[in-house]
Amino acid sequence: MNEGNLIFSRANRRSFISQLMVALGAGKVSKASRAEAATGRARQFDPPVDSSQSSTSQVAACPHQGGYIRPGTIEVVHQKFDLVVVGGGIAGTCAAISAARNGTRVGLVHERAMLGGNSSSEVCLYPEDTVAYNPWIKETGIIEEIMNEERARNWVLLHEGMINTQWDLVLYEWAIREKNLTLFLNTSLREVEMANPQEIRAIRAVQLGSERGFILQAPLFVDATGDGVLAYHAGAEFRWGQEAREEYHELLAPVRATDAVMGNTLYFRAHDVGRPIKFKKPEWAVAFDTEADLTGRHHGFFEAGYS
Ligand SMILES: Cc1cc2nc3c(=O)[nH]c(=O)nc-3n(C[C@H](O)[C@H](O)[C@H](O)COP(=O)(O)OP(=O)(O)OC[C@H]3O[C@@H](n4cnc5c(N)ncnc54)[C@H](O)[C@@H]3O)c2cc1C
Repeated sequence: MNEGNLIFSRANRRSFISQLMVALGAGKVSKASRAEAATGRARQFDPPVDSSQSSTSQVAACPHQGGYIRPGTIEVVHQKFDLVVVGGGIAGTCAAISAARNGTRVGLVHERAMLGGNSSSEVCLYPEDTVAYNPWIKETGIIEEIMNEERARNWVLLHEGMINTQWDLVLYEWAIREKNLTLFLNTSLREVEMANPQEIRAIRAVQLGSERGFILQAPLFVDATGDGVLAYHAGAEFRWGQEAREEYHELLAPVRATDAVMGNTLYFRAHDVGRPIKFKKPEWAVAFDTEADLTGRHHGFFEAGYS
């Protein structure tokens, strides 16, 4: 399916609600590190954003551009919204739906083919405790609507690693039925245009499959990329790693700051087929023969969550 077909002009621009959004993902930005606005990450576009209207134009391809994009045929779509949300995980999808329901014309830009991010059938980490019917930490609102609908449609047990495409489909349905929401799937934010060092004017994104580029302009953006990608491109301050314990007086933080980040997760599913199966190592498998091969993370036990 060409997801570009989902993109169309929305009528009846309504008044923008000013207190709607917190910058999701901006929690990764810290005072402790220096702004990198001067590093050239945030760029000016050529051609510049047309601030007066949404439009489509053809731009000449870079002479060195290879691959399947024919030179001179790249279509660049300019669109204006009240809000652009980047990242269609749980956070971004709920933020975009909430904004749309409150009368905000919102563009939701997500680089994968399905919504959900970590919770999608691609990664299978469904939003576990907070929405999964635990009476003492129950999260309600849009996420509960989605979870209830998914449970009504899906026969698979609710268990980490078992989430399947029914979940993706409910998220998709919940997004596209909002008339104020325009969904850009398979669309990856690549560059940010700044109006000034504090203000994002537009993002530039590319869409796999349709060979189109997008310049999406808005007075407000939400970074829901999970990794602060939009904030990074906008030159926001950020930090990498763990703070020292005394910095925020967190007892569980390390004594000294480190550059450690979350480790990789080896995610697999085993199924009892009722008879022994000989393990055949894939040719690409990497051997970790010694303790020294497994640095940086405790691996003496398995965490819960395997099904
Ligand atoms: C192994 C593991 C176990 C976890 N277990 C739990 C748990 O038990 N309970 C719990 O509450 N949380 C858990 N979490 C955390 C939980 O998964 C995250 O907090 C949650 O998924 C964050 O959602 P999100 O929408 O902010 O980000 P994500 O789910 O990461 O979604 C962000 C999306 O943005 C997209 N994106 C990134 N860059 C761009 C770009 N440039 N252009 C367009 N799109 C972009 C990404 O593709 C991604 O899909 C776990 C996480 C991991 C990794």
